[in-house]
Amino acid sequence: MTISLKAYAKINLFLDVMGRREDGYHDIRSLMQTVSLYDTVTVSVSDKRDGAVTLECDNAGVPCNEKNLAYRAAMLFYDEFGEKKETHIKIEKRIPVSAGLAGGSTDAAAVFVALNRLTGEPFSNAVLCAIGKKLGADIPFCILGGTAEVSGIGDVLTPLPDMSPLPIVVVKDGEGVSTPEAYRSLDAIFDGFTGQYAGGTAETGRYEALLSCLRNGDTDAISKNLYNVFEPAVLPHHSKASELKEFLLSSGAASAMMSGSGPSVFGIFRDNGSAERSASILNEGRETPIAFAVHPVGRGGVR
Ligand code: ATP
Repeated sequence: MTISLKAYAKINLFLDVMGRREDGYHDIRSLMQTVSLYDTVTVSVSDKRDGAVTLECDNAGVPCNEKNLAYRAAMLFYDEFGEKKETHIKIEKRIPVSAGLAGGSTDAAAVFVALNRLTGEPFSNAVLCAIGKKLGADIPFCILGGTAEVSGIGDVLTPLPDMSPLPIVVVKDGEGVSTPEAYRSLDAIFDGFTGQYAGGTAETGRYEALLSCLRNGDTDAISKNLYNVFEPAVLPHHSKASELKEFLLSSGAASAMMSGSGPSVFGIFRDNGSAERSASILNEGRETPIAFAVHPVGRGGVR
């Protein structure tokens, strides 16, 4: 039996750090949005018990071994299920790697959902999210998708109504960013989130303003209220990302910002035509695209 799923990327429309916990993790406040850029994850299961889990991926930058989050998702799923079946996972990668787009987490989420279906749905979505959380904080969001407020260390989800379908361009070029390193730079800039930065760094009211304009698609209001605390920690060291952000703005984006810990950036456009033109200029002469004209994907459209 085989199932093929679209494993969608996410962007952060808002991302702030609210504090640093004693265990070193950071509490965040984020608004995450699924977008229509996806990897295709195909999972095949045979009835052979205790068979091997194998994995292939068409991107040489992604490990095809036990380090792959999709592989680890399968092993964790079978631990909880209590029985391991011979399984093959094939990942057709389109989401840029180490980019702040949750590429690995979304592949893992797709494996959880696929194996759950292939084994007769032993787990509810809520249980699947709880299992996924053990592997990565972004995985529950990737399982549910749509628009959601994300808090805690990235693992507490509050689903929100779908955002309006605005055109978005996502682009990543150059070196990836290591998320732990980005957090270390952040701590240095914001005094470890103590003193004036305890409780967040964004202007008061900005988050609520963004929430209230997301649904009606007021591009100007959305643009004014996008926020990513990682920009001052990452952009100064990633000139490519800064250039791409400038390019998006000069090619018609109403706003542009880095996603997650970067270095991918995204622009919100007023019309599909200018978003597609902007992405095609960025991809000119390249064998592998770096820019993608996408739309928000609602929760109902995720699986
Ligand atoms: P996040 O937004 O969740 O911080 P990211 O988009 O910045 O994630 P990923 O693309 O998930 O980063 O890659 C992070 C690391 O995970 C890379 O070093 C990569 O080699 C490894 N990795 C493991 N499994 C995968 C996978 N299925 N796809 C991509 N990267 C993977």
